[in-house]
Amino acid sequence: MKQPLSLSEFDLIGQYFANLTTSREDVLLGIGDDAALLEVPPGQVLVVSVDTLVAGVHFFADVSPESLGHKSLAVNLSDLAAMGAEPAWATLALTLPAVTPSWLEAFAGGFARLAASHGLALVGGDTTRGPLSITVQVHGLVPVGQALQRRGARVGDLIYVTGSLGEAALALKKRLAGLGDALSPALLQRLEKPQPRIEAGLALRGLASSAIDLSDGLLADLGHILTASGVGARIALQQLPLAPAVADWIAESGEWTVALAGGDDYELCFTAAADHREEIQHLSQQMNLAMSCIGQVEAMPGLRAIKADGQPWDATITGFDHFSMPGSGA
Ligand SMILES: [Mg+2]
Repeated sequence: MKQPLSLSEFDLIGQYFANLTTSREDVLLGIGDDAALLEVPPGQVLVVSVDTLVAGVHFFADVSPESLGHKSLAVNLSDLAAMGAEPAWATLALTLPAVTPSWLEAFAGGFARLAASHGLALVGGDTTRGPLSITVQVHGLVPVGQALQRRGARVGDLIYVTGSLGEAALALKKRLAGLGDALSPALLQRLEKPQPRIEAGLALRGLASSAIDLSDGLLADLGHILTASGVGARIALQQLPLAPAVADWIAESGEWTVALAGGDDYELCFTAAADHREEIQHLSQQMNLAMSCIGQVEAMPGLRAIKADGQPWDATITGFDHFSMPGSGA
C-alpha cells in the first residue's frame, strides 16, 4: 500500500495554489477551511461542470505540466462557454504519484494563467497519492433564463462553428504515429493548450438557439444538439473551417475524420435563426473569431454530411471516444 501524503507535502502543494488566482468579492471564504463559501448574485444561476483527465487515457504522461495545468481547466471552461456562462470559481482534485516541486510549480502556473485571464478564483481542492489524475470542477454564472442549451435548435436555423476544426486531432494522430517531433508548434498548441471560447459563449446569449462545445468531434457533438432538439441537419463539408495543415491532410488522405470526428477542438457549435445571420457575421468580425455557417437544421432526423460533388459522405465513423494509447488499457 502506498504512503498517504504527509502534512508537509500538503503544505507544499498548498503553497503552489494559494493566492495564485484572482481574488473575487463573491468568495466569502476560499481555500483553507472545510469548505468554501460563495455568493451567487441575485438574478443569476449557478452553472456547474466537472471533468477528469487521467494520464495515459486523456493525455500523454510526458506532456508538459504547464500545458496540463492549462488544459485541465480549459476543457472545463469550454463547457461553461457552451452554456453562455461567465466563469467564477473552480475546485481542483489532484492525484499525484509523487510530490515534485518543479512539476507542481509548472502545473499551477499553467492553471493560474488561464484562470486569471478569465477572472476565475480557485476556491478549494484535494490531493491524494496515486496514478496521475486531475479533476477540475468549474462554477459559472448566467442570468436566469439566458443559459445556452443543447435543446432549442429549430428547423431552418443555420448551424455555425467557431474557429477551425481538426488541428488537435491531426496533432494527436501524428504523435500516435511517432511523428511528434515534426509537429508545428501551432498544431501542438491546439492539442495541448486549447482556448475556451468563453467570450463567444457570452456574446451568443440571446442570439444562439442552441450550443455545445466540440470535445468529441463535430458529428458526435452536433448529433447531441439534434437529438436534444428533436431535429435533423445537413452540413456541407466544403464549408467546414479548416486550417491549412488540416485541409492539406484531408486532400492527401481523402479522410475527413480529423475534422468530423477527431475531438479535442474545444470550439463552439451553435445554431441560430437565419435572420440573425448578419448579426453573427458582425459579431465574428468584432471578436476576430471565425463563425462559419456549415449547414442548416432540417425536420428529417439524422445528420447528413454532403461532399463538394453533392453526394452524401458515408458516415461510417460517428464519433471518437477520446483516445486509447498503447498499453494504457483504456
Ligand atoms: Mg461539453
